[in-house]
Amino acid sequence: MQLKQDSPKPSYIGRLAPSPTGLLHLGHARTFALAAARAQAAGGTLLMRIDDLDLDRCRPKFTAAALEDLTWLGLHWQNPVITQSERLPLYRIALARLHDAGLIYPCDRSRRDLAEAVSAPHESIEPGQAADDEPLYPAAWRPAADQALPALDASGLALNWRFRVPDKRELRFDDALLGPQTATCGRSFGDFLVWRKDGLPSYQLACAVDDTDLGITEVVRGADLIRSTFRQLLLFEALDAPAPAYCHAPLLTDEHGIRLAKRHAALSLATLRANGTTPEELWTRLAL
Ligand code: GLU
Repeated sequence: MQLKQDSPKPSYIGRLAPSPTGLLHLGHARTFALAAARAQAAGGTLLMRIDDLDLDRCRPKFTAAALEDLTWLGLHWQNPVITQSERLPLYRIALARLHDAGLIYPCDRSRRDLAEAVSAPHESIEPGQAADDEPLYPAAWRPAADQALPALDASGLALNWRFRVPDKRELRFDDALLGPQTATCGRSFGDFLVWRKDGLPSYQLACAVDDTDLGITEVVRGADLIRSTFRQLLLFEALDAPAPAYCHAPLLTDEHGIRLAKRHAALSLATLRANGTTPEELWTRLAL
């Protein structure tokens, strides 16, 4: 008789995923330090992924600065560093799967059309939603579900493509720090971009593909990305991939309660370091 065996538990694989669009600040340090601490506590592996797909805003000098700052802070990750812009074939394969399944459609509305159409702010899941989060896409703009899709040839890859979210479906996940989180498709967020007409995947698609391909077991990131987590949960399901566990770090605010952002240049790690702050002082300040 064959004994039923549990499949071996995957060991912990986490990742740090900076976007090289500016200098890292204290808020990033706290999130990344938390990610490193959780990987270490689990006896796991930590990968470094550079999210450099926003060609207008990403700069190699910020990748170099991020690696330098995080090394100074005492974080360790497994080499080689993974760079999203070098992984385009993987994202194209995933897009083709979504296309074959009829889960996406081309969209020629501009960001401006969308901004003008959206008057009411959408339901808040967490205070501090990502400043650049997509507005709720009007369901009335969707093409019919049975409409034939253009092929994903060179001209098809030069279109914006959106994922059709299952209207009114309730989604939930349990966050390791924040507890149960819920969202309603079509209300908390609408049809979202998976591909851009500049021939690159959206953050949502690239992130879901990479978290799957790299075998990430837990994603640790800022709470401003909770809404994106729900979008990515839909992508994992559509791509028939298991979703990782999630741990969203509360966002750091300044003395006025305003979220720290890259514009708080005085709190960049590079400036703190240049002003003589030691990594030990910073760890104390991060209070992890
Ligand atoms: N690169 C993203 C950011 O800096 C984080 C993405 C993620 O952790 O999924 O906001």
